[in-house]
Amino acid sequence: MEFPEVFIYGSDDREDAAAEELAAQLRAREIEAPFILSSVHGERLASKLQGPRPPERHDPAADQDAAARIGSRAKRSGADAIVAVGGGRCLDVGKLAAARAGLTLIAVPTQLSHDGICSPVAVVPDETGKPQSLGALAPIYVFVSLPTLVTAPVPSLAAGLGDLLANPLALRDWALAAERGLEDVDQRAWDLSVESFELIAPTLDTDPGMSANDPLFYRRLCDALVLSGMAMICSGTSRPASGGEHEISHALDELHGGRAMHGAQVAFGCIVSVALYGEDTEAFRTRLRRLHLPDKPADLGLDENAMVDLLLHAPKTRPGRFTILEDADLDATKARALVRDIWPEL
Ligand SMILES: [Zn+2]
Repeated sequence: MEFPEVFIYGSDDREDAAAEELAAQLRAREIEAPFILSSVHGERLASKLQGPRPPERHDPAADQDAAARIGSRAKRSGADAIVAVGGGRCLDVGKLAAARAGLTLIAVPTQLSHDGICSPVAVVPDETGKPQSLGALAPIYVFVSLPTLVTAPVPSLAAGLGDLLANPLALRDWALAAERGLEDVDQRAWDLSVESFELIAPTLDTDPGMSANDPLFYRRLCDALVLSGMAMICSGTSRPASGGEHEISHALDELHGGRAMHGAQVAFGCIVSVALYGEDTEAFRTRLRRLHLPDKPADLGLDENAMVDLLLHAPKTRPGRFTILEDADLDATKARALVRDIWPEL
């Protein structure tokens, strides 16, 4: 298993200088003909790269077929790598395109909204528009430009923290599956996931709007998201960073086409796991409110019935994965009682 190399550019606040540095770093890695996939926000950062074709603009509606077509265009152009410069979906499309074309991937995230920046997992919609979580290629190199990240919207930072709130719960789910003899825990992956969460733990009681003024915060969040991705590379599954709370986020995608950023949906899903583990949901919800993350169904446009349906659908999104949700084995009556217990105000 090989971990990606991660470079954080933060020596001054000019994005043009970061773009120069990115081009130099690729040359130093003997990447001579990169195929560039860039979102609107990534254009400046990608502007100094020279590929065999002009940079391709990332289409936010790109599905798995589109990713495969990007892969074949890259291959036909004689590219020696795909460089994806953009947000989570752009990187995921790049990962899938690279996997299909047998090319290496360089990830250049323009925001820190989830732990996919260096994971081997790509979430890309199928032909019906339903996002699917697929095994793809982890990047070999991640270039992070702080001058770019500071211009990303604050909700993307909150979502990044939200995705990492899942780690301790995902680990408990993993231990639960191991206890039942269903899976083995990979200790190194476990430790990376713990370390990832510990990095952001001190920032969880601060409004992300305040944290956004602190360059150190970006480094911490970036390191934490990278470690979380490495935990997944290490175990070869998303297990160390994805449990029942991710099943709830997947169910939101499948039943409602997604109602918020991935990390925000995951943070919301954590409330259910916290409740099922018998812990203090009120304290957890207070933390979510402070982080400007959804803490009640209405924040995602859901009522009590939709919430019950969501809980019943969640275990179906990841057949074969045993988490606290599968352990609870909710039927409609139990699901409704749980929803009323967590959100008595509904
Ligand atoms: Zn996630």
